[in-house]
This record gives sequence, C-alpha cells and structure tokens, in this order.
Amino acid sequence: MTYTPASGRYETMKYNRTGRSGLKLPAISLGLWHNFGGNDRYENSRAMVRRAFDLGITHFDLANNYGPPPGSAEENFGRILKQDLAPYRDELILSTKAGYYMWPGPYGEWGSRKSVLSSLDQSLKRMGVDYVDIFYHHRPDPDTPLEETMSALDHAVRSGKALYVGLSNYSAEGTREASSILKQLGTPCLIHQPSYSMFNRWIEDGLQEVLDEEGIGSIVFSPLAGGMLSDRYLGGIPADSRAGGPSVFLNKEHITEARLAKIQELNELAQQRGQSLASMALAWTLRRGRVTSALIGASRVEQIEDNIRALDNLDFSEKELQVIDDIVAR
Ligand code: NDP
Repeated sequence: MTYTPASGRYETMKYNRTGRSGLKLPAISLGLWHNFGGNDRYENSRAMVRRAFDLGITHFDLANNYGPPPGSAEENFGRILKQDLAPYRDELILSTKAGYYMWPGPYGEWGSRKSVLSSLDQSLKRMGVDYVDIFYHHRPDPDTPLEETMSALDHAVRSGKALYVGLSNYSAEGTREASSILKQLGTPCLIHQPSYSMFNRWIEDGLQEVLDEEGIGSIVFSPLAGGMLSDRYLGGIPADSRAGGPSVFLNKEHITEARLAKIQELNELAQQRGQSLASMALAWTLRRGRVTSALIGASRVEQIEDNIRALDNLDFSEKELQVIDDIVAR
C-alpha cells in the first residue's frame, strides 16, 4: 500500500539551527547503525523509518559500514526511500560517513582522498541517491595529512555529491584544526558527531567550547548509552536487547550491579518528572540548547514514540541537574 506521511508531522517536533549554518535539524534524529541491516527484519526497519518521519524526524543517519553485513543499512534505507519516501526527498536530511573499515586493501578505510571519495560513491549507489545532505569523516586518521582528508570533503560538496560536511569522533584540538582548513577551502564544517550521554561526558571537556567558537553544530550519538539509560535492563537482560546480543560496545559485562543501581535511581527521578528514563536522558543531552540533535537508535516503533516524548519536558531545575550529577558520579 502506498505510504502517506502524517499530515501533522511538523506540528510537534522542535527544529534547531545547526551551529551558525542555515540548516535546521530535528531535536531528535534516527540512526541506522543497529536494527536496519540485512540480518534484521526489513518490515520492522521500514516501519520505524516511516513512524519517525510521521513524528517529524527528518534526519536519518547512516554510514558506509552500517549493517551487518556492512553496507546493508544503506541498501535497506535506499529500498525504503524507493518504496515510501522518494516523493519526500527534499524534506529529508540524509547523512553518511567514511573512515571505518569497509573493504579490503589499503583504500578501504581511514582518510585518504582515494578512500573517502570512493566510499561516498559506493554509499550513493547503495542508497540510490544523487547526493547526501551531510557527509562525515567518521574518525580521525593519524597517518593521512588533515589537509588531504578535508580537501576530499570539500570536493564531495563541490562535485554535488554532498551538501554539507561533518566530522565524527574528532578531539577538540583536531576539530579546531580541521575546521580551520575547511574554512580556508570555503566549505565550513557544519556539524560534529561525538558520543554523549549522562554516562559519557567527554565533550564537556573542551570540544563543546571549540564547537561554539567555530559555529559548528553537534549531533550526539548513543545518548541512551546504547539503551542502558532506559528501563530496558531494570528487570534483567532481555534476550532481544543489545546487551543480550553479540555487540562489543554493549554486552552483559557492562550491566553491572553498580550501574544498575544508578539506572534505578535515575529512573525514579524520571518518574518524578513524569517522563520515562529514556525521555529524560534525551532531554538532558538537549538541555540549555547546546546540542543541536540527539541521535537515537531504536529496535521498535514504540521506542521512537517514547523517545519523542522527551520534547514534552526539556527543562531541568538546578536541583535536578545536581541530583543527576551526584547519581552518575557515585
Ligand atoms: P542509543 O544510545 O539511543 O541506543 C539505542 C538503543 O537503546 C536501541 O537500539 C534500544 O536498544 C534502546 N532504546 C532506544 N529507545 C528506547 C526506549 N525508549 N526504551 C527502552 N530502550 C530504548 O543510540 P545508539 O548507540 O543506537 O546510536 C544511535 C546512532 O548514533 C546510531 O544508529 C548511529 O547512527 C550513530 N552512531 C554513530 C557513531 C559514530 O562513530 N559516529 C557510533 C555509534 C552510533 P535495544 O536494541 O536493546 O532495544
């Protein structure tokens, strides 16, 4: 059946300006790292993308290697575009990335011009699009001169294959240097994609200042710490959860007694605020307007619906912020 997006899709989402650019991004964006690959149920992935768009999520984040198998999330997203979203391409912000291992040999990862631009061409082909809105360098490359990688990003824009460029996982200092090169090339850095959550606050230690000074926006990944900052693990480790599976980033060993005690306390605070823990954790990353967008993952439609409710209460009292700091630091 033909998909018709919800007519009220722009009524409740909040859109934030990305740094000093003209581009606005939804306060909550959807990432396709997990649960959208060739080994996942396609109809579930498709339902999540459609529901997200119905809720005003205009931004979908991908990378060359998302799957498994690598590349299959882009292929699936291309299929969803073709089936459902193609008429709405101008309402969508699609991003992809190059930098992590993608194909064998010396050109399949990192940051040479050869690797970055070949990867972008592959991504466009897999998604069946002429351009992406945002093209990222996924991780810094210690061996390639920064000038070469940034000039590859600049070329992606000049050749019409990307509208904007971004950096991911770059340090504060690396970001400052890369931003300066990109400015000289005439393609300013739009956005940085770092990890950030109540459990992982490294960006507060320098990176956020650099982003403010350079006028770069931020979209923070794993804002729920892969699902730990939700009620997912309060009653044990479900077999269908991320920690219950083979992920190296989140597994049973991460769900310790000490961590669970903190999650429980945070959950109680969320309940007092009338929010789920996931909603509160997302609202926390967006507090004071410093972050442009919280980049969530999801394994089912209901999680996206729950997460969107973060927008119902984005305000925190000083006391609540202190309580959160205390619980996390314990
Ligand atoms: P999150 O921290 O949002 O974790 C998502 C997981 O949390 C879901 O898969 C689900 O786990 C669980 N979850 C989500 N909502 C709820 C809810 N309301 N209630 C209970 N559980 C919930 O983010 P991710 O780690 O998935 O990362 C998000 C995106 O960020 C990625 O898709 C990718 O686009 C990007 N990313 C970028 C990286 C980079 O290097 N640039 C690295 C990592 C991610 P479950 O599956 O168990 O149900």
